[in-house]
Amino acid sequence: MARLVLDRLTKRFGAHAAVHDVALDVRDGELMCLLGPSGCGKTTTLRMIGGFVTPDAGDIQIDGVSVVAMPPERRPTAMVFQRYNLWPHMTVAQNVGFGLRLRRLAHAEVDRRITQALELVGLPQSGRKFPHQLSGGEQQRVAVARALVLQPKILLLDEPFSNLDARLRVRMREEVKQLQRTVGITTVFVTHDQEEALTIADRIAVMHQGVLQQVDTPATLYAYPRTLFVADFIGTMNLIGARAHAAPAGTVLSAGPWQLVAAGARWPEGSDVTVAVRPEDVVMAPGGVEVEVRRVVNLGHYLQAVLWCPEIGEVRMFADKGAALGEGQRIAVQPARALAFHGSELVEIGGPMRPAAASPAERR
Ligand code: ATP
Repeated sequence: MARLVLDRLTKRFGAHAAVHDVALDVRDGELMCLLGPSGCGKTTTLRMIGGFVTPDAGDIQIDGVSVVAMPPERRPTAMVFQRYNLWPHMTVAQNVGFGLRLRRLAHAEVDRRITQALELVGLPQSGRKFPHQLSGGEQQRVAVARALVLQPKILLLDEPFSNLDARLRVRMREEVKQLQRTVGITTVFVTHDQEEALTIADRIAVMHQGVLQQVDTPATLYAYPRTLFVADFIGTMNLIGARAHAAPAGTVLSAGPWQLVAAGARWPEGSDVTVAVRPEDVVMAPGGVEVEVRRVVNLGHYLQAVLWCPEIGEVRMFADKGAALGEGQRIAVQPARALAFHGSELVEIGGPMRPAAASPAERR
């Protein structure tokens, strides 16, 4: 087990900062996902941890020791790449043991570790096979075994399942989570797939344009996104332009036809605010705003509806499978809960009030 600390890590390619001032603390045994859209800097961050890219500024510490000057093979890290790069002319056992032989370990020890690693990934009988005799999922498991056999302190996974089909990806993600729990190894997992991150991560670090936006558990990220980017990127969100007005009860926000009281806010009269409402928080309520049901998709366990409100445009709603929702129908709805963003400040509307300013680290 080991702790990994990234201290204000920066990498520029020309004038462009691919990674800017990233500070992250990955705890002992934790599975941390780096999540963000293509080009946000997550792979560059992972490659800096593994020693394949040299940072322009900042430090990387593993158990309090800086590894930033060490070449990859001297770092206590092991990386599993997107393309698993198994050597086709070597057997599975030879592939898994390759790194150990480079380290000149005794034959008996190499064999013992290979057997143990193949058992861990559920391929105890496959040592004599060649990679082409394995399925894509099995090849990826061999790649994971090849990393684990080195007994690294930190396991680095770079979109390891992106070459697999959707069903296998879901299965592999569960297997890796289980394996990571069994071994208890500190892991950094890069993905652009939020569902993957939400299912396997202990915590998720969301990146955007080289900048760390928020580091939190999946549940907290979903319920309390700290920036508009995270609010929009994680899950489905209705983002509605609103205007602030001072009122005795606090600030009232005019969000289309909705008047929402942001009791914790003290925002200047007339300032622009963005109100974020999850589709499951759009609820039918007498006295709510009347909208037209444009489309309804029955997903079996719940309904997804697109509502039309002339002043706002489309509003997405998730409803119970038993809800009486028909296309063309007019219904009255209102948000049961919303978040209001004003610059770097945000206030929760409905439920317990939690006014909060994003911390400087999260804003960076
Ligand atoms: P993806 O999911 O597409 O792999 P990513 O979030 O992992 O994206 P990076 O690969 O880290 O993003 O790239 C971050 C930015 O740095 C991108 O704009 C990319 O074009 C740029 N970049 C990455 N590697 C290099 C390089 N070797 N030379 C120049 N620019 C690079």
